[in-house]
Amino acid sequence: MVLDPSWDPFAAEAIHRLADLYGSPLLVVDAERLRDRYRRLADALPEVRLHFALKPLPHRAVVEVLRDEGASFDLATNGEVELVRRAQVAPERCIHTHPIKRDADIRTALAAGIDTFVVDNPDEVRKFAKYRRQAGLLIRVAFRNPGAVCDLSRKFGCDPAEVEELIGLAESLDVRIRGLSFHVGSQAPDPAMHVEAIEACAGLIARTAARGTALEILDIGGGFPADYCEPMLPIEPFCAPIRAALAALPPGVRAIAEPGRTIVAPAAVGVSTVMGRARRGDRWWYYLDDGLYGSYSGRLYDHASYPIEALNGGGERLPSVLAGPTCDSIDVIEEDIALPVLAIGDRVVGRSMGAYTWASASEFNFFPKATVLVVDRGRILVGEDPS
Ligand SMILES: *Cc1c(COP(=O)(O)O)cnc(C)c1O
Repeated sequence: MVLDPSWDPFAAEAIHRLADLYGSPLLVVDAERLRDRYRRLADALPEVRLHFALKPLPHRAVVEVLRDEGASFDLATNGEVELVRRAQVAPERCIHTHPIKRDADIRTALAAGIDTFVVDNPDEVRKFAKYRRQAGLLIRVAFRNPGAVCDLSRKFGCDPAEVEELIGLAESLDVRIRGLSFHVGSQAPDPAMHVEAIEACAGLIARTAARGTALEILDIGGGFPADYCEPMLPIEPFCAPIRAALAALPPGVRAIAEPGRTIVAPAAVGVSTVMGRARRGDRWWYYLDDGLYGSYSGRLYDHASYPIEALNGGGERLPSVLAGPTCDSIDVIEEDIALPVLAIGDRVVGRSMGAYTWASASEFNFFPKATVLVVDRGRILVGEDPS
């Protein structure tokens, strides 16, 4: 037991204790918050099987906590297949959703027992001709979403008008199409795009059925939001219109989803330490041991800004600059952030840092990535206990 189990692992005293024991930078993940986020989404979409997308936080202890909650999983790479295999997740609970795959990727997933894949173009359908007895496919359809922070339909997905042709090609190759999928884009501001896409897919599925091909799955992707500096719609009202739209699907079609961000983002905080400071012009610059090349990479790739605070936050707050540790001048986390005067060794915490942060961090300049600590009621699930 590293912490008193009654402590909130995100409270200041707990973070100080963890950083004293494990050093800095850290990504502290709270297993209880992970469970809570998963349960809230599962309760808001009770008819939908939830495949947690590993991409935003591909960590074994996270997978194990969600596995024990009953989650299924959404994988896209051989590394992710290997991670769920090591976590002893049953392959029937996994789908492989990368629309563009090498033959070796398909073979690796099939060998692990995963048999559902995603395609969005004729060449990809043809790759499955030799696996026709083992694999079933979902066709990913693109619905452009200029409102989403990350519009994933720009890079993947076929036009709705191409679905029929792809099904025809698959049938001519004796390859089984099991359903449709879409991803409206991450951090959707409201459920309107999900609802619109579900309605469009319901129409496509009905037309397909009329021509004699019964589809059985609609995969509604991810995109469910998380709070950062601004509160978003809570997950229950976000999902209510989605649930209503799903109720109108043709009979025999079951819905699945691929949530990532909404489950892990609020379940982790980033902890870093001031390694130096300098007065430049009229401002203090603080140099942390984590930055844009580390856990704050989501600042760039994910267009996210995290609520950041000093752990010992007394005194007057002054406009300050928060920089990362590398020698690159781009490595500035915040150009203008109100902070109390910090000393070397003080700790800084970023909230809502579970998604697309540590996952996209590098070790540029040999500054190590944050150590991930998954804390479960006082215990650390993975990692050495130095005490
Ligand atoms: C990244 C990704 C997800 C997760 O999306 P979130 O917006 O984080 O929920 C789900 N499915 C696919 C195919 C993805 O690429």
